[in-house]
Order: sequence, then structure tokens, then C-alpha cells
Amino acid sequence: MSETLAIGSSTTQEVVAELRRRTHFVMVSHVKPDGDTLGAGLALGLALKSLGKHVWFFQEGEVPRILRFLPDANLVTNALPADLPKDTLFVFGDMSNTARAGDSLPALKRENILDIDHHLGNERFGAFNYVIEDECSTGTCVLRLLKELGVKITPEIATCLLTTIMTDTGGFIHSNTTAEVLRTSAWLVDLGADKEHITQEVFGSKRFEAQKLLGAVLTRATLDDAGRYCWAVIDQKLIDELGADYEDTEDIVNQLLAVEGVEVAALFKDFDGAVRVSLRSTGRVNVQAAASRVGGGGHFRASGLTYPGNLQEAIAGVHSALYAEGL
Ligand code: 5GP
Ligand code: MN
Repeated sequence: MSETLAIGSSTTQEVVAELRRRTHFVMVSHVKPDGDTLGAGLALGLALKSLGKHVWFFQEGEVPRILRFLPDANLVTNALPADLPKDTLFVFGDMSNTARAGDSLPALKRENILDIDHHLGNERFGAFNYVIEDECSTGTCVLRLLKELGVKITPEIATCLLTTIMTDTGGFIHSNTTAEVLRTSAWLVDLGADKEHITQEVFGSKRFEAQKLLGAVLTRATLDDAGRYCWAVIDQKLIDELGADYEDTEDIVNQLLAVEGVEVAALFKDFDGAVRVSLRSTGRVNVQAAASRVGGGGHFRASGLTYPGNLQEAIAGVHSALYAEGL
């Protein structure tokens, strides 16, 4: 693995020294959590507990159905004890800024924040910023720390880490699936990571409502004249008709991108009082740059945002941002 730490980042040794020095930790995941933010936090938390540390797992909402199998996922809470020690270290995993954690955390001093991430445009919001943009997942950033810490990678930790890799590579499909990532994954399986279980839970347990939603969205999708941009809308009416919810929408944008010739896909989720947008690219257009033009962020090939306006404004605003980035 290349050691390309971005400007403003801490070294592996500095972060590990801090992890050893502290005794109390809160692992923080982002809103609408995915396998990376949860798996990375759970893996690091399990490792710290094996060193006798005290660990809480904070998540503003519920753990998504497909991730409840993760070891210790049952301990994830949005209610932290009021009397946490003042030097508790809050570890934010897989997010560019603290706003991605929601708004129910207590006010935090920067000195008590460790930011572990692999996003482009991470805002280096911690006293310690362990940001490695060319890692495939936040989980593999955590793995670097665990190796330096010298903790035993148990089957439970290995399962959490393999989940981070499998979710952020789309099941070893996306271009971030390097030979190194495959070697690391094989090594985690040797250590007891339950790949079959992860495959079944994360990729093979779609609710019937989710599959019906996928069908409806594909039927309504629009392809632009050039055949390069495919987009669709999910509105409240459709969600209600099918009895679907936000979790059922998660994988749909990837199916829009899978259309022959399509370079960029967008899914506009106009329900539950906000317009959330998911963007995906096959690699020519930088959708992270496009998303950051309209208040979002993410990666070159996968980004997202909440649009500050109604659906029609979101469609127009996102189209403009994409064309400005060369669509
Ligand atoms: P998704 O489309 O799966 O919600 O998000 C794709 C990627 O974009 C993820 O890496 C996620 O972290 C990032 N992302 C999604 N929504 C937001 C957002 O509102 N703000 C920022 N900065 N990044 C986002
Ligand atoms: Mn990630």
C-alpha cells in the first residue's frame, strides 16, 4: 500500500500513540450509515476493547437492516452517557465533515476528535486526521492502525473489515478493487472473516419492496439524447404505494449507471421532507466535484448531497453541476 497521507494528516504512529494514551472512545458513524462507516467503527472499537479500553458506538439513526449482522451492531446507540470523561476521544469514520454525523452529538472540542477517512475533500476537522484518499475504504485505513497497534485480528474484526471493503468496492466490482485490496480481502478470509455471510446479508437480502421499487424506478428512468446520462426520481407517492423506505433505495443508482454507454447516473430521492441525490460515474466525470458545487461530496465515482430546494430545482441544479464538470 502506498503511504500517501494528504496534507494536514497525522501519521500512523501519531494516531496509534493517541489511541494508546486515551482510555474512553466513541466511534461515530455518518447518517444513513453504510457498511464502511459502521464496519470501520466496529472493527476499531472491538480492537480497542481487546486492549481494555471503554468504547461506545454512536449512530444518529437506526442501524440499517442489512448491517445488523455485524458484530457489536446491537451496541450502537444514539444515547451517550452524560458523564463521559472529558478526554473521551470521538472517532469519526468515513465522513468529510462533522455535519455528516447529524446534529445530536454533544459539542466537541477539536482536541477530542480523530477523523479517519478516505474521501476526497475531507475537511481535516479533527486534532488528528488520518485521511488516505487512495484507500478503498475507511476500514482499510483502520486496518493500517490495527497493524501498528499490534492487536489480534479476530474473526469478528476481520468480518467488520471485509464488510467495509465489500460495500465500498460494490462487491469487488468498482475500480478501487486493486490487487492489494483483493490480497487484503483474502488475508481477512484466512483470519476468519465470514465472506458468505456478508454476501448474503449485504447483497442477497433485498426486501421484496426494494426489488419492486427497483423495477418501478428503471421503468421511469430517463436517458439523455447523447445516451450518457441516466437519471430517475423516487417520490413520496411511489414510496407509499410500494411500502418502501429509504433503505430500499440504496443500490438503485448503480443500476442506472449499468446501462450501456451511460457515464453518469443520478437518483433523486424526493421524500421524507428532503431531496437527497445520489450520483455515480464510470470514471470520466468527477461526480465528487459536481456534488460539491451543490453542497455535497463523496468520491470521484460516487457522491451524494441533500439539495437545498425542491425537486425541479434539484434536477436543474444537479444537471448544471454535472455539465460544468464535463458531462
Ligand atoms: P450515496 O449516494 O450512497 O448516499 O453516497 C455516495 C457517496 O457520497 C458516499 O461516499 C457518501 O459518503 C457521499 N455523500 C453522500 N451524501 C453526502 C452529503 O450529503 N455530503 C457529503 N459531503 N458527502 C455525501
Ligand atoms: Mn467509505
